[in-house]
Amino acid sequence: MSRPSARSHEIMERSRQLFPGGVNSPVRAFGGVGGEPFVAERGKGARLWDADGNEYIDYVLSWGPLVLGHAPKVVLDAVDRAMQLGTSFGIPTGLEVQLAERVVERMPHLEMLRFVSSGTEATMSAVRIARAMTGRDFILKFDGCYHGHADSFLVRAGSGVATLGLPNSPGVPKMLAALTLTAPFNDLEQTRAIARSQAPQLAAIIVEPVCGNCGYIPPEPGFLDGLRDLADETGALLIFDEVMTGFRIAYGGAVEAFGVTPDLTTFGKVIGGGLPVAAYGGRAEIMKQVAPLGTVYQAGTLSGNPLAMAAGIATLDALTPSVHRAMVDQTDRLVGGLQAIAAAKGVPFTAGHTGSMWGFFFLGRNPRNFGEAKAADVALFRKFFHAARERGVYLAPSQFEAAFTSAAHGKREIDETLDRLEQALSAALT
Ligand code: PLP
Repeated sequence: MSRPSARSHEIMERSRQLFPGGVNSPVRAFGGVGGEPFVAERGKGARLWDADGNEYIDYVLSWGPLVLGHAPKVVLDAVDRAMQLGTSFGIPTGLEVQLAERVVERMPHLEMLRFVSSGTEATMSAVRIARAMTGRDFILKFDGCYHGHADSFLVRAGSGVATLGLPNSPGVPKMLAALTLTAPFNDLEQTRAIARSQAPQLAAIIVEPVCGNCGYIPPEPGFLDGLRDLADETGALLIFDEVMTGFRIAYGGAVEAFGVTPDLTTFGKVIGGGLPVAAYGGRAEIMKQVAPLGTVYQAGTLSGNPLAMAAGIATLDALTPSVHRAMVDQTDRLVGGLQAIAAAKGVPFTAGHTGSMWGFFFLGRNPRNFGEAKAADVALFRKFFHAARERGVYLAPSQFEAAFTSAAHGKREIDETLDRLEQALSAALT
């Protein structure tokens, strides 16, 4: 059981004076589960320690980026080497080329890309190109999908927006929000009807190929193919937002996992190995629209930052196909183990994974989309989350967020986790 959290509490009291809600990103505030977040102090491998010395096996992993676990030596050494040469230049470096070459080798459908510093920048820029290429203004996204906090995406968005129950954000001009159409994930019929109703105006269909921002919801067979056909039919560009899924659901991302090729792809999280890197890319004819070759403007002072590039290169190099496979095998054991624990206790429960991205709902069947996921027993999730935390397992603090494993989650960590979560579920049920 975890120890008292006096030091975390003291830091959070000061944080609340300085930051809205005491945090620099809303999901960190534990709004979906109640209580106060702990304050992280250090991490190593699959584990992190808070400011009071409590240890957690971590399944949040900085919300996805830490695919090798916390503080992997290869990444620390690479960043250190890069840092000795300078922290930023604002002019091309060889490191940018090295990281880009590794990305296109794994995902050959990308002919050109551009590095940015956050997933939000990547998705926002991809939509801007789609609008420029097509000369159209509307986009279609899916209910519960989150693509960052750019104005056009804060319409029925997932992640913290859903956890906090905010349907749309104030501050987004109504005229802009009206250009964002939404459809239910995994419902091709409705998606077709909505897309066709605005077909001459539709610039892009953007989707998380595996939904992670309203809990873990995989695409049904044929859904992504259907979106590909619909984009071709309407003349819209298909954008896969792989900020969460990239290098996680399969070595080669969604194209390898599902055999469907988008026009544009966005990345974040894993691509920077825990430092701020994101990217967007696609066919050369599309990417050539971007300045300075084309007229679609997008820029960034710290884009392609050498420390961040070094972390990305070291991460992708260490994430070999065999390391990836081992990580997926452990994820499979974890998910199977959880299903068995819940079944033994007779709790309505569903869990699944694609690669090392996984999730569960306290619900008797697999939800197909956010609308169905909302029927999950959120009260039980809250109890389970806190019981898990007390026993040293850190799960995402919302029923509507995906979870992740890393290459550092070996047999021992998974066995320990299953042990602790079995106790946590018993405690949550009493
Ligand atoms: N797209 C997806 C699928 C995400 O999950 C996120 C963040 O969680 C983003 C975009 C936004 O990325 P960032 O938080 O780096 O701006």
